[in-house]
Order: sequence, then structure tokens, then C-alpha cells
Amino acid sequence: MLIMEKAPAKINLSLDTPMRYFDGLPQWNMVMSSIDLADYVAVETHASPKTIKVYTDSGFLPNDQRNLAYQAAHILKTRFHQSDGVTIRIKKHIPVAAGLGGGSSDAAAVLRALNQAWELGLSVDELAKLALSIDSDVPFCVYGHTAHVTGHGELVTPLPNFPHYWVIVAKPKVSVSTPAILKQINYATLQHAPTNQLVDKIKAQAWSETFQYMGNSLEGVTGEMYTEIKRIKDKMLQLGADVAQMSGTGPTVFAICHAESRAKRVYNSMKGFCDEVYQVVLL
Ligand code: ATP
Repeated sequence: MLIMEKAPAKINLSLDTPMRYFDGLPQWNMVMSSIDLADYVAVETHASPKTIKVYTDSGFLPNDQRNLAYQAAHILKTRFHQSDGVTIRIKKHIPVAAGLGGGSSDAAAVLRALNQAWELGLSVDELAKLALSIDSDVPFCVYGHTAHVTGHGELVTPLPNFPHYWVIVAKPKVSVSTPAILKQINYATLQHAPTNQLVDKIKAQAWSETFQYMGNSLEGVTGEMYTEIKRIKDKMLQLGADVAQMSGTGPTVFAICHAESRAKRVYNSMKGFCDEVYQVVLL
């Protein structure tokens, strides 16, 4: 059986980490939203060969068990004793190691596809629980849209969807290692983003008040290493964006504009500033 899935990127409208757990991993308090910049994932199951194969159109990505899409197939195949083989073909559009959750979204797409192909009947909640062992962003990617994400990433509470807002995504030419940034966090001096207040505003659908509560606690951490992050953000705000901030552990910066004319201005100007720029919408 062949199933095609769209794997949308995510942005962090808010990202905070109140503390580190005893296992060394951060406790998250985030609001994430999917955007319509997506990879395309084709998942085929077959009686033979019985192995998992991954192909991508990117020369830089691993095709073996280091690929998060491979790990997603492996978890379902072993947990539910499926003898079928799986072939996964990924067409990448989401920049890699950018803070946009591309690998996590590919993995979530494989979980959805195999749940359907193998008729496993798993609910979204059950898929999200299995997803956590792949990466902290995969549970959110199983749900998509807008959600409040806490714990290690496994506690996902869907929120109302935003109205039509434009999002301009700009990725500077550096790749950021998430584990390296997480190691740099100094909890004594971290500037905390007001995630809970943003959640309240979204629940109340007080959209025009949401911008002032967006923020990313890790912007200072990654921004100290890559000065272009602040330059891009300042430029977006000068051009009239309602809000501009880093996504995830960076380095991608996004702007949100409710007026199309401002979105166009930000998009056109940022194209002269950054190699990879996209104008998309919140899903
Ligand atoms: P994170 O969710 O860790 O913040 P990110 O959004 O910054 O991640 P990704 O594009 O998901 O970045 O890639 C992070 C790492 O995952 C890279 O080192 C990449 O080699 C690896 N990876 C494994 N599988 C994939 C995949 N299918 N697509 C992209 N990256 C992948």
C-alpha cells in the first residue's frame, strides 16, 4: 500500500524551559504552530523485502536508523509485530537543522501513514505517546495546528487555530545543533517567555493581544553565538512585522504579519538579506 503524507514545519510562538529534569533534559513550556512549509513523505508497505529503507532528495541526510522517519517506522514495526517491509521517500522542503522541526514532522508523517496502512487503529494520543521516544517535537507534529506543549514534549493540548496570519520565515546560512544549544542553557540567568499568558490569550481568542506574549527563552543563548539572528529580527520589526522571533533553538527567525502588504514588504526585503526566505501561513 502507498500512502502520501504532508509533513508541515512548526514554529515556536512561545518557547520556555522552566527547569532541567534529573535526566538532564529540559522541561518545556511552549506554544507551537504548524505552517504550510512542508516536506512530502511517501510511505509504501510491501511483503518483501522486509526491511525499512529511506530515500531523501537531500545529499546531507542519513538514510539509515539515524533518520527520524526510519525510527518512526521501526517503532511501529517492532511494537506491533508487522512483518511487512517499508520504503519511505522524502522530498525535503523544510530547511534542515533550522529549528523548524523538519525531521520530527517527517517522523510524525510516517507514524500516521503506517497507522493507516497496517490498520493499527491508534488514536492521536496513542501515536503521540509512541512518538516521544523519537524526539521531543514529534508528539506535537502528530497533532499539528496550534498546541500547548509541556513536559518532555509529550503533554500536548490542542488550542484554537489562529485566524489567517502571514508568516515570513528566514533562515540564515548557519546550522544549529539542538543538543549543543541545550547544553549552554544557564537556568540562573535565563529570560523566561510568558508561555502561560500566551496560552490564556489564545484560549480567549484575543488574537491582537497575542503578539505581546510571544517569546523564545533560547533566543539569547543561540543569539550570542550567531549575531545574524538579532540582525534579521530587528530588520523584520523595522519593516513593520507585528512580531519577530527565533524558532526553536534557531537559527531560523520568523515574522508574523496580519496585513498582506506588510508581509510582502518583509518577504521582499528579507530576500536580499537571507538565502532561504519563505512566505507562508499558520495552519
Ligand atoms: P529539532 O527538532 O531538534 O529542533 P530542527 O528542526 O532544528 O530539529 P531537523 O531538520 O529536524 O532540525 O534536523 C535535526 C537533525 O536531525 C539533523 O542533524 C538531521 O541530520 C537529523 N535528521 C534525521 N532525520 C531527518 C529528517 N528526516 N529530516 C531532517 N533531519 C533529519
